[in-house]
Amino acid sequence: MSGLDPKDWTALRALSHRMLDDVFDRAEHMGEGPVWQPMPQEARDAFRHDLPQEGEAAELLYSRFLGQIRPYSNGNTHPGFMGWVQGAGTPIGILAELLAASLNDNCGGRDHAAIEVERQVIRWAAEMVGMPVDSSGCLVTGSSLANFIGIITASRAADPGLRAGGVGQSKLIGYAAETAHGCVSRAFDLAGLGSDALRLIPVDELYRMDSAALAARIRQDRQAGYAPFIIVGTAGSVDCGAVDPLDELAAIARAEKCWFHVDGAFGAFARLSPEHAIMLDGIEQADSLALDFHKWGQVPYDAGCVLVRDRALHAQAFAQSLSYLTRADRGLAGNAPWPCDFGPDLSRGFRALKVWMTIAHYGARRLGEMVAECCAVARYLAERVEADARYLLMAPVALNIVCFTLADRDDAAIDELVKDLHESGVAAPSTTRIEGRMVIRAAIVNHRTTRKTIDAMLSKIERLACI
Ligand SMILES: *Cc1c(COP(=O)(O)O)cnc(C)c1O
Repeated sequence: MSGLDPKDWTALRALSHRMLDDVFDRAEHMGEGPVWQPMPQEARDAFRHDLPQEGEAAELLYSRFLGQIRPYSNGNTHPGFMGWVQGAGTPIGILAELLAASLNDNCGGRDHAAIEVERQVIRWAAEMVGMPVDSSGCLVTGSSLANFIGIITASRAADPGLRAGGVGQSKLIGYAAETAHGCVSRAFDLAGLGSDALRLIPVDELYRMDSAALAARIRQDRQAGYAPFIIVGTAGSVDCGAVDPLDELAAIARAEKCWFHVDGAFGAFARLSPEHAIMLDGIEQADSLALDFHKWGQVPYDAGCVLVRDRALHAQAFAQSLSYLTRADRGLAGNAPWPCDFGPDLSRGFRALKVWMTIAHYGARRLGEMVAECCAVARYLAERVEADARYLLMAPVALNIVCFTLADRDDAAIDELVKDLHESGVAAPSTTRIEGRMVIRAAIVNHRTTRKTIDAMLSKIERLACI
């Protein structure tokens, strides 16, 4: 026996045709079943067995997928999914994943088409936000890693000695709004600067970073002997979708000779909607930027992206010269620089294909309309909440996130209500805290969510809460 391929491909081919039909049957009838259902113990136990010594037939494994995995999915492909910030995927994205897997390309580097596809996608991302199209960048798991890469690049631009010498007693200090995503403070922690080196700046009544407070804090830190090196602005905050005053932050960064990084995880896509693009003015001045194709871009998980304006500074933060990775002037080892010069990963999958196919298939205009439609659905929810005395709208709706609660219920009741709602299978929003109060948080990132979904969610809430 040699190799792992089947001797006879006929049965596998027939099975795979059936799989594809099932995949599109599910996609065509998306929303008919529950958004989520708890996984019974029996199904969980099916994944607790010793390492198999002998293999099982693909047919059997597929029947286990249908019985024990598919029904207990995360649910973000369903119109009722509005929790956290998750994209819903698309049919073309499903196909792209299959095609990419068939090639098995390792996109750490070398001279092959996948690298060119990734470069194209990076140029499109830069064009979308208005950064120079020759900006550097790479695809990563998500914005957690993209923000980390931006912060690492900025710290090494400020002090190139950090790479060999470590952070030691570094005085480097960064700034973000107190509403910034937790991955920003974790990036400071992972970078060795320590999460205390990230100053959290208060926000105004619209939950945007207070730029006067930022300027004052930078002055105070300089007087105390610290070295401010980065300002992190958020375009679309995770709790209520607020956009920091990016223009003002960019100006402060320039005046203070700081790096300007933008966390645009989901919000950067608002740049594609003409009516919302203006809110993000200033994003084009970013020195580096994080965004997720797997959120508002609807590309299947995972697909994050980091952009860095200055290619040399990006490479300075990550590139190495290693004899087993020698770059050639021709042959498969050509085509430098490689993606592994721009981030911590060496082996990487062909994420770019699903991104390229999604953007090329729908086009920027259609994706912008989808973004605007999500914002309109969010506005509809906010209007229904505001028009009804039983509800309270808890934060302004800048883009696509609506934080609301029931007027006469405490935190514990809201917590229970959201769990009941999840188990009902009708809708899956999540929760957050606004001004110390637990609230229901609906993030409309899902291109399948409509006004009808919102109506169904509110009816279910009213029945569950007996209001
Ligand atoms: C989701 C999100 C992140 C983290 O991105 P991942 O892709 O989950 O790693 C960072 N910032 C914001 C604003 C987000 O919404």
